[in-house]
Amino acid sequence: MADTKKIAVIAGDGIGPEVVAEAIKVMKKTEELYGLSFEFEHGLFGGIAIDEKGTPLPQETLDMCKAADAVLLGAVGGPKWDNNPKELRPETGLLGIRKALGLFSNIRPAKIFDCLKDASTLKPEVLEGTDLIVVRELTGGIYFGDKFRREGANGEEAVDTCVYNVHEVERIVRQAFEIARTRRKKLASVDKANVLETSRLWREVVNRIAPEYPDVELEHVLVDNCAMQLLRRPASFDVIVTENMFGDILSDEAAMLTGSIGMLSSASLGEGAFGLYEPVHGSAPDIAGQGIANPIATILSVALMYRLTFGYHEAAQSIEDAVASVLDAGHRTADIATDRSKAVGTQQMGDLIVAAMK
Ligand code: NAD
Repeated sequence: MADTKKIAVIAGDGIGPEVVAEAIKVMKKTEELYGLSFEFEHGLFGGIAIDEKGTPLPQETLDMCKAADAVLLGAVGGPKWDNNPKELRPETGLLGIRKALGLFSNIRPAKIFDCLKDASTLKPEVLEGTDLIVVRELTGGIYFGDKFRREGANGEEAVDTCVYNVHEVERIVRQAFEIARTRRKKLASVDKANVLETSRLWREVVNRIAPEYPDVELEHVLVDNCAMQLLRRPASFDVIVTENMFGDILSDEAAMLTGSIGMLSSASLGEGAFGLYEPVHGSAPDIAGQGIANPIATILSVALMYRLTFGYHEAAQSIEDAVASVLDAGHRTADIATDRSKAVGTQQMGDLIVAAMK
């Protein structure tokens, strides 16, 4: 029996609790199959926390997350809180939790399931074999540099500064090399070193660290070229590492290769193994409470947690294989179904995946 790992569960709003419940079912099945052991603790977060505690991120939820080995998050938000002042909005809780937990990278896999190739806007033969991860720096760059307005020669000017220091680049690049090591051992570092000084620093740091990872094949790709190559040869990428704004754009582009938001998992990582795992989608208020949400994004987030935080690669593979086999057998939730009348519900999809796990 493996050590008991503490999982902080913050299901949140809308479909959050529905999809998280299925992910926990899958985790419990891996306890049975692989001798893993988890202790689940549940906390309030987002809109529900605003209603019950008067704040989107109660201190006790944050303390629970800090004491955990990993966090499983559903989704937050909804129309009920949309017109609240900033400090009483669920999204403010999301920014707050990332900051408080020191999470500096966002990891977004984009993997094509063969049987869903037709859901993408790209040709199936271009997508064949696509299985990549975008590692995005989250805490630096132009989003966090000085911003101001000034009187320019011809009227008003606006300035956003892009700042990176060596430490910020080093820690994320090391993380990306480590992730590449657990996969196909290819890393694409994306920058704009032909124009930007921060990119030249980025590239210098990458080149300095690269010899520590002789087993990983490194390529430098300019961001504009990367945007093109993701559409032209997506299957050739394994791990892509890049700064905040480039990562924001490229991770959305990569996500759309797969065609469905209900399938996309993500992780936010800090120093060490700790991570926060969540589906890319939001709380989907339009379908909340109907039992029709696709739980696969959250279930695949568990597989990501097993790989990145716990090194439970076999159990992760079993989850990913089970998802693939259930899809291959033709089962679909409504969002990915061609014939919606035959679609399965959230719980049924969870049950099918649990039953397919080996
Ligand atoms: P959304 O991702 O919630 O929904 C977009 C569309 O995709 C909707 O039609 C929804 O029904 C569908 N969808 C999403 N997830 C699905 C799933 N698992 N299965 C089936 N269909 C699914 O985005 P939105 O509508 O722009 O935002 C709704 C709320 O969620 C907002 O309050 C927003 O702020 C919040 N949000 C939260 C997060 C987060 O918690 N990390 C992320 C994005 C949006």
